[in-house]
Amino acid sequence: MKKRLFIFDLDGTVTKEETLPLIAKAFNVEGEINALTDQTIAGNIPFVESFIQRVSILGKFDVSDVNALLSKVPLFEGVADFINTYSDQCVIATGNCSEWVSGLASRLDCECFSSSANVEDNKITKLKSILKKEDIVKRYQAQGYYVVFVGDGNNDMEAMREADVAIACGLTHYPANSIMAVADYAVFNEHTLLRLLNQINHPSEGNSVVLSCAGIGSRLGLAKTKALIEIEGKKLIHFQLEIFENVEDLRVVVGYQARSVIQAVLEKRDDVLFVYNHDYFQTKTGTSFYLGARHANEYCIAWDGDLIVHPEDVAACLDFQGEYIGCSDIVSEDTVFIKTDELGNVLSFSREQGDYEWSGPAKIKRDNIKYMSTNVFNQIEGLLPLPFLKIRAQDVDTYADYKNAIAFMKSWPQ
Ligand SMILES: [Mg+2]
Repeated sequence: MKKRLFIFDLDGTVTKEETLPLIAKAFNVEGEINALTDQTIAGNIPFVESFIQRVSILGKFDVSDVNALLSKVPLFEGVADFINTYSDQCVIATGNCSEWVSGLASRLDCECFSSSANVEDNKITKLKSILKKEDIVKRYQAQGYYVVFVGDGNNDMEAMREADVAIACGLTHYPANSIMAVADYAVFNEHTLLRLLNQINHPSEGNSVVLSCAGIGSRLGLAKTKALIEIEGKKLIHFQLEIFENVEDLRVVVGYQARSVIQAVLEKRDDVLFVYNHDYFQTKTGTSFYLGARHANEYCIAWDGDLIVHPEDVAACLDFQGEYIGCSDIVSEDTVFIKTDELGNVLSFSREQGDYEWSGPAKIKRDNIKYMSTNVFNQIEGLLPLPFLKIRAQDVDTYADYKNAIAFMKSWPQ
């Protein structure tokens, strides 16, 4: 395994507050700075131009005062602990000037790359350099590191595009749209971020659930990803979140309508790990499962966003020891069949005929999951025979399935 190197943006990723607005507030130039920040966020002013202007506004204040102010900014304690524990594997990359953030950075036991300025008489006279974070990523990659970048703003975008793993961090504000377009993961909870960082650093034991909600739901014809369709007034994704209430490592793979799915999840729970399948139009659930299983725990349970499992069978799906394939009686319109033997093993999948319907879920060892652009059952075919688990389940591929799903759910004990 290549050695891991974690690069953290500072503002809003390690600090609980953005530092430039903090300086602006303390020195009473909020109006000017906020106007500039709004224009930058709206994409009307490029980051570098905005940064130069912000430094020229804030540079007239004593550097030592700014440094002292920023030294006290609260940090995300867990993130700071991770950095201090793995200090030889962590660095900070901040666009901020070292003359302002050196006191703050000294609380973190790792190297800090930053912009720099000339100082005369305790005032910034001009900017000397503006950090290009992507250069830091490339530098470590050239040294053979597998580079993970954690950031939240527009100026992290190029670095995140270059990094081997890009984590969009939504701990202080919703991550910038530009970085969501290149992110592998998005997190909105510190524990989730720390769990992911540890999973990337060391192979972990236990189970992860990979809930695939990236597809365009083309056969259903509602122009809605299936996780967002409603059954009896409840979004499918909310139904899924209820059954996975006690699953710690729940990974939701998003693609089509990603932002709406993320928002629907965050209404109920913020500790889910979001995994991006940016290529959702060209790929199928096998890709989403592969992406969701990267850096996951030892066993991954593949669960499609449109899979409806009878509540009495959910525990069996989550608790089954080792690998298995979930199958049900044949109920769907567009069926993948399963052929089994008398010992309870799945021998093959078929589009023509079989003993049961492949409905999902499936539990597979993380290390057995390879990249493929096709379906989860194609992913599993190379691993057969595997034990099968008989459940009552249905998926919602077509409008007829949707009608059946409503009837199925109405049949459950209330
Ligand atoms: Mg930031």
